[in-house]
Amino acid sequence: MELINVSNVTYTYNDGHSALKNVNLKINKGDRVAILGPNGAGKSTLFQLFNGLLAPTSGSVTIGGLTTTKKNLPAIRKNVGMVFQDSDDQLFNSTVRQEIAYGLMNMKISGKELDESINWALKVVGMSDYINKSPHNLSGGEKKRIALASVLAMKPEVMVLDEPTSALDPKGVSDLLDLLNSINKDLGITLIFATHDVDIVPILADKVYLLSKGEVVLSGTTSEVFSNRETIRSINLRLPRVTHLVELLVKDGLIKADELPLTIGQARKLFQKSIKHL
Ligand code: ADP
Repeated sequence: MELINVSNVTYTYNDGHSALKNVNLKINKGDRVAILGPNGAGKSTLFQLFNGLLAPTSGSVTIGGLTTTKKNLPAIRKNVGMVFQDSDDQLFNSTVRQEIAYGLMNMKISGKELDESINWALKVVGMSDYINKSPHNLSGGEKKRIALASVLAMKPEVMVLDEPTSALDPKGVSDLLDLLNSINKDLGITLIFATHDVDIVPILADKVYLLSKGEVVLSGTTSEVFSNRETIRSINLRLPRVTHLVELLVKDGLIKADELPLTIGQARKLFQKSIKHL
């Protein structure tokens, strides 16, 4: 079922800079979608159109059948949970409880339902013990979890995450990827994330839109998009590390691969198969 439709969208900033040019996206319920592009590609601009912070200069954005016009914004914002790149831009209350309660209270949720929603969201992100702490004293990974919980508590259909892993250490990245995948799988929440980190894309996305200079230059399944190696490199991105390694081994004639692996798991299977045949 189609959840988001971005149709022929152009966005031009007041200074005349054209940040999005004729962008088309179709995102189905339950999808895991990466908006992949280098800095300045237009990812943040696109995300601000998803919840009506910006309105397209031309074209339209429809979410759950509602176009992002002023009248529809309250209903759309309830349904689209935005997780900012910098958690400090999202967390401004003095306790974790207040942080998560804030959005719920704006939705007129109170009493037992409020407590249940807060407890549920904290449990999903594994932060129940932090309910009375100040969000400002937490680590980067913990802050990200609280930001996720504050959005999750409102039970959105879709979560839109801007560079979700950018401020995290390696363990923080891997824990966050597991958490986001379980949020998608167990709760059925659609995930859309912007990144230039190509290594996380095959782990967290089934579909990719490759954005450069405000235009969608490629779209398709993750393996379809990463098979266009020249295009990816031409826009200042690279292949996942493991893909690059296998690409070199194929070039050296040391291994054969119909399709290059994108993850360590896929590479492991390929090596196991090839070594058995030696
Ligand atoms: P990304 O998130 O992919 O790094 P952005 O959406 O932030 O890209 O930016 C896309 C382009 O729009 C960039 O060239 C950027 O300089 C420009 N841009 C972003 N915000 C503004 C603004 N407020 N005014 C003018 N130009 C902007």
